Amino acid sequence: MTSGLELLFSPLKIRDVEIRNRILSTGHQTYLAKDGVPAANLVAYHEARARGGAGLIIVEAARFHPSAVSDAPDLNACDDRCIPGYAAIAEAVHKHGARIFGQLSHPGRVTRRISGGLRGVTYAPSVIPDNRFHTMPRELPLDMIAELIEGVGASARRFVAAGLDGIELVASHGLLFSQFLSEKTNVRTDQYGGSFENRLRFLAECLAQVRRYAGDGLVVGIRISAEEVEQDGLEADEVLAVCCELAARGAIDYVNTTIGSMAGPGGSIHVVPPMDVAAGYVAPKAGRLRSATELPTFVAGRINQPQIAEQILRDGLADMCGMTRALITDPELGNKAAAGTFDDIRACIGCNQACIGHFHAGYSISCIQSPLTGREASLGAAARTESAKTILVAGGGPAGMKAAVTAAERGHRVVLCERGKRLGGQALLAQLLPGRAEFGGLITNLEAEIAKLRIDVRLNTSVDRTLIERVAPDEVIIATGAKPYEPMVEGREEGHVVDAWSVISGGANLGSTVLIADWRCDWVGMGVAEKLALAGHKVHLAVNGPHAGFNLQIYLRDYWAAKLDKLGVSVIPNARIYGVDGNTAYLVHAISGDALVKEEVDTVVLATGHKPENHLEAELAGTNYRPRLVGDCLSPRTAEEAIYEGYLVGREV
Ligand SMILES: Cc1cc2nc3c(=O)[nH]c(=O)nc-3n(C[C@H](O)[C@H](O)[C@H](O)COP(=O)(O)OP(=O)(O)OC[C@H]3O[C@@H](n4cnc5c(N)ncnc54)[C@H](O)[C@@H]3O)c2cc1C
Ligand code: SF4
Repeated sequence: MTSGLELLFSPLKIRDVEIRNRILSTGHQTYLAKDGVPAANLVAYHEARARGGAGLIIVEAARFHPSAVSDAPDLNACDDRCIPGYAAIAEAVHKHGARIFGQLSHPGRVTRRISGGLRGVTYAPSVIPDNRFHTMPRELPLDMIAELIEGVGASARRFVAAGLDGIELVASHGLLFSQFLSEKTNVRTDQYGGSFENRLRFLAECLAQVRRYAGDGLVVGIRISAEEVEQDGLEADEVLAVCCELAARGAIDYVNTTIGSMAGPGGSIHVVPPMDVAAGYVAPKAGRLRSATELPTFVAGRINQPQIAEQILRDGLADMCGMTRALITDPELGNKAAAGTFDDIRACIGCNQACIGHFHAGYSISCIQSPLTGREASLGAAARTESAKTILVAGGGPAGMKAAVTAAERGHRVVLCERGKRLGGQALLAQLLPGRAEFGGLITNLEAEIAKLRIDVRLNTSVDRTLIERVAPDEVIIATGAKPYEPMVEGREEGHVVDAWSVISGGANLGSTVLIADWRCDWVGMGVAEKLALAGHKVHLAVNGPHAGFNLQIYLRDYWAAKLDKLGVSVIPNARIYGVDGNTAYLVHAISGDALVKEEVDTVVLATGHKPENHLEAELAGTNYRPRLVGDCLSPRTAEEAIYEGYLVGREV
């Protein structure tokens, strides 16, 4: 029944709380709260994961004191208004046999804390700036520390009233508790600073408050970074000492580990690590804490498949596996793993786009592969059709594949035509960039769904009006994507200019020094730069934006920027390609308009965006067909919009 995943599907008992399996959704900000309290969307989001077989869900961090509250749609446990919303989540999750914990957090200095457009006062143990949000905090006065501790207790009381099974304090990621623990960010001379004992005092007193309300039956734990990987962050041995001391005092029932810190760009990468970070990479660090504390230990960090989780458990490195993004992508992961239908699991590809990417852009989270995620309450599951039609989908990229799957799931007969020899569209190229192979998982996942639905896939089949009239479908969906856009580049015919797609597919002949004209400021320019630098070329990356990867999610962007820097790629910001002449590339500064001349350039690579491939729409003008366009053929953007639009059209037809 559990298909070799005996440990993953074994229960774990902590105090009075039995958790049915070891699949954990760790606390993660969703921006699904409304007015600071859990709303219908958040309840439906967690219910979907509980129904799908997760063992334990830890609800995202809630603020426990007004000094942590801003305009951001975070949860706020500072007053009793939060109790009904938490109770609704608890009821919805318990109904499906899963357990639910609440999380309490305060960012300290690590926040912009904007309200009404104004930056608020930030508080920390000491006046030491952070390197991410560039805040200079105010030192917490003693009476405010007392208020914070009281706030933790009052919030814990609300969680207990709502029927949660456990409470977790967020001591990870360089946030307030961690700021107290570190001697680099806590230079106080009172009872909360100085010695190890004093630096631990704030967290210990807050935990005591939590226990006061949690009683003997409920679970109390901390989330902590096994190391913060940041200049003034906690180091592994410091964290070990903190956890051992709290364990020895009986102050915590478990340790929930991660790594990284939000206090600077280096540590932040680990908060939600990008796709070429190794799967399960935090587990050995968790294992060290587990052995030393002898407490149940949870771990997260790129655990995107049940088999990886099982291996971590078998190796004795952890007791619960945080599979947060895996569950964002496929809420049914637990049920599918339990049934042994592994091929049905839609695996997270670590792209960081719609989950943490949405969050950083100020929107509620979703998944590029699963448009229903985060929209469970607003969209609801697609209904089966009452009148099955024949649907012809032109184009087998992400948009066309998703449209085909969604329409077929609803009961339509679908013919999916792709002019190439493989499905995948531009994702086939995207997966060839260094460290981006996992992006191809998006194709594998959709191919598995297409195979299961027995969709009529016709490869090497270019759709035109004649073919459509021959198939005579009831509906036509055009998902023909995009191709490289070629801007006017003076002297192009004489210079050595190639496009990024030909470089990625290995079809371009390149000189030793290359200048990449990167208009998109995303994966394409950075990926080609890395590929060519790794192949030994001298690379200039001329970006039409303030920095490389300007349009990428920041953890990925920063991670990639550091890699390119190590490889010696020189980045020219705010540069637009203008012309080429022999071995000289002419650029224009995008803001001042001044000329930027780069000499000794053998090849210019154009990563200058994509233009829609939509001539089929024109071909069908004047016929009875009213085709629906989705994805890049409508307007070239990203796989997220392509899949989202494919999904919506599949629901509509
Ligand atoms: C190198 C690279 C890296 C990228 N990296 C990312 C990334 O990391 N994340 C992200 O979100 N996006 C990324 N993108 C963009 C993303 O791949 C596209 O936005 C997405 O693939 C668009 O999907 P689509 O289905 O609309 O079009 P396409 O992917 O372009 O697919 C269209 C398909 O239609 C087929 N076709 C065209 N005309 C016909 C016809 N007449 N009949 C039959 N078939 C036809 C084409 O052969 C193609 O297979 C990247 C793009 C590139 C080039
Ligand atoms: S958006 Fe990407 S990283 Fe985020 S959950 Fe979906 S597949 Fe995973």
